[in-house]
Amino acid sequence: MLTPCHYAYVKISEGCDNLCSYCIISRLRGRFRSRTVDSVIKEIKAVSLRSDPKEIDLIGQDTTLFGMDLYGKSVFPGLLKNIAELKNGIEWIRILYTHPAHYSDEFIFTVRDTPKICRYLDIPIQHINDAILKKMNRHITRKEIIELIEKIRKNIPGIALRTSIIVGFPGETEEAFKELLDFLKDARFEKLGAFIYSREESSRAYKFRGQIPENIKQQRFDEVMKAQQAISADINRSFLGKTLKVLIDEKLEGDRYFGRTEFDAPEVDGGVYIDGSGIKAGEFYNVKINDTLEYDLVGELA
Ligand code: SF4
Repeated sequence: MLTPCHYAYVKISEGCDNLCSYCIISRLRGRFRSRTVDSVIKEIKAVSLRSDPKEIDLIGQDTTLFGMDLYGKSVFPGLLKNIAELKNGIEWIRILYTHPAHYSDEFIFTVRDTPKICRYLDIPIQHINDAILKKMNRHITRKEIIELIEKIRKNIPGIALRTSIIVGFPGETEEAFKELLDFLKDARFEKLGAFIYSREESSRAYKFRGQIPENIKQQRFDEVMKAQQAISADINRSFLGKTLKVLIDEKLEGDRYFGRTEFDAPEVDGGVYIDGSGIKAGEFYNVKINDTLEYDLVGELA
């Protein structure tokens, strides 16, 4: 599908140096290479002139590390500020694919203090059990992940956190899985992508002992999804009666439209169904939420 022109993905880096043991990105795409700040800004200016997007989605295998290879330190906060200062139609800057081991206070405060940056962060944690995190080579511990999430929630009230996790990684005992499930129930991520561990032939983890049978992996996945469904439904209910700014993605059948709030990334998250007339795709509207589903909201123009 072609990306609609009211939002645009901008890739700020290529490749990855993190060497997670289950992943073959470094083999496929090579070492981490950032673009220069100038080149990213130039691209955003060009995209703005071409299609006047309302939302920019910043992607890369590890956005938090942006600039490390070129400037000797991450200059992601500076890039974000530069993008926010551009005079164009962009109202939402969305940050995807951050790495929990590469957060800085400066980055968190930049998100907090820059209104154009969506109150949304995508932080794939992959697991929470220390032994599994180590085998995954995630460069972070359970304690550090918990402290990071607390720090983000404390500093950026109302933020929606998206994470992704892998179930059935080699050596994931029943206890380790239970620890993950309990953690997810406790952390209550607004959005969650769960994946069943897939054994990639050229990855390090391919050779790990303790591969988990497919039926157990599936059972664990189902349990995670069931728990998340309840969490998501509960979080969605808290929006009932509230008015939210919604970017309309598309017209559905009849007078029904589908859009997203700043808490929903395109393609991976849910959104808002809106009944109304004279609504235009690619425009913002204030929408009053009058019903909620497990992963989506329902509303009408406010
Ligand atoms: S999972 Fe992500 S962070 Fe880890 S090596 Fe692959 S691309 Fe890099």
